[in-house]
Amino acid sequence: MDNPARGRIFSPMDSDLIIIGGGLNGPALALAAAQAGLRSIVIDALPVRTREAGTFDGRSYALALSSQRMLDALGLWTALQDNAQPMREIKVSDGRVGEAEVFLGLHFDSAEIEEGPMGFMVEDRYLRRALLAAMADAPMITHRAGETVIAQETDAARATVTLASGESLTARLIVGADGRSSGTCARAGIKRTGWQYGQTALVCAIAHDLPHGGVAHQLFLPAGPLAILPLTGNRSSIVWSERDAQARAINALPEAQYLDVLRPRFGDFLGEIRLAGGRYTYPLGLTLANAFVAGRVALVGDAAHGMHPIAGQGLNAGLRDVAALAHVITHAQRRGEDFASPQVLSRYQSWRRWDTASLAAATDIFNRLFSNDNPVLRLGRDIGMALVGSAPSLRRGFIREAAGLTGELPDLMKA
Ligand SMILES: Cc1cc2nc3c(=O)[nH]c(=O)nc-3n(C[C@H](O)[C@H](O)[C@H](O)COP(=O)(O)OP(=O)(O)OC[C@H]3O[C@@H](n4cnc5c(N)ncnc54)[C@H](O)[C@@H]3O)c2cc1C
Repeated sequence: MDNPARGRIFSPMDSDLIIIGGGLNGPALALAAAQAGLRSIVIDALPVRTREAGTFDGRSYALALSSQRMLDALGLWTALQDNAQPMREIKVSDGRVGEAEVFLGLHFDSAEIEEGPMGFMVEDRYLRRALLAAMADAPMITHRAGETVIAQETDAARATVTLASGESLTARLIVGADGRSSGTCARAGIKRTGWQYGQTALVCAIAHDLPHGGVAHQLFLPAGPLAILPLTGNRSSIVWSERDAQARAINALPEAQYLDVLRPRFGDFLGEIRLAGGRYTYPLGLTLANAFVAGRVALVGDAAHGMHPIAGQGLNAGLRDVAALAHVITHAQRRGEDFASPQVLSRYQSWRRWDTASLAAATDIFNRLFSNDNPVLRLGRDIGMALVGSAPSLRRGFIREAAGLTGELPDLMKA
């Protein structure tokens, strides 16, 4: 039904927040806002059926302990915990194909910190479904799936988005959670900085004969890093970076030959391996929004920063954006401020922009430093790893960083 008041300055708005993008960070923000009594409309271009299919996305996420705390605070952990694998140790090696175990460089053990495991491995299919189900159960959230935002505008009082259907929706704040090619970012006039790496990640789940013991392995090979990440049962998630053309060729191989290429990289420390699901590819690049806020618009997740998965930190950084934005706007709301005003949003930007830019720069430098076989760089990085490994305080610093426990924690990530 038409609302005759809509369009006038003081007319009620359709929502407090309009969140563009219903991937992972968008729904997490809607749930966080709902806890603070704020209404959200979450708009996503894809239908729910497509996104909840088990084969929609082959990734599994290394969720830092701080991200797990946040999912727990949002009421999602009960649905996830049976399918979450604790990550107790991380082993980092510098190697060549066929030399996986020879060059063991660094070993991080969560027994060195009091908080527990550094994090948990969770498969996309479980996380995405838990988020969709929680949104469906939340009266403060309206989920508009299968709808595309094509325009937006903001003024001193409100923000308006236009859908491809022609419908307009109003709110106090627009949040862009629409991924690496964020239209929200472009429409807000925010420029981006970034580049492609010429690398593609081959992603799959592997079943193996021997137990992994909750140990994650990061092996640096000349063409790019190979991560072997523990999943529940005798299974691991593989994130395997190769040059683009090589990755395309490997992914086109029949299953048996694909495994023949993987085996000498993987090693035999987990016994015989076989595929435990589909195979996926993801082109790798870096993209950073030059600002995280503009007018009544804020960016979170990959819309703000898409980075190389070398450290498994992209979603963790996105969830930290979500927790920080929720923290800033709920505290502003309690103080009676306009939570979407430039003054309030600038607090979010100061909290998150430097952190994410330095994290993205670190992933970029690590990827360049390790994705080659230059003997001088190789010697330098092996000495660097030995130094970090032999200094307990540095080692503990890395473990706390991987667990997401450093820096100022937003309310949702506190123990
Ligand atoms: C190989 C690989 C492995 C990774 N592993 C890890 C890991 O171990 N740990 C970790 O923390 N991170 C990891 N990441 C990073 C993580 O996957 C991303 O950071 C995360 O998926 C980003 O989620 P998002 O919700 O911000 O964006 P997306 O998931 O990209 O969602 C954006 C949504 O916006 C919607 N959309 C776009 N435009 C519009 C529009 N105009 N209107 C309506 N809807 C729109 C899209 O349909 C989409 O659903 C990995 C990344 C890769 C590539």
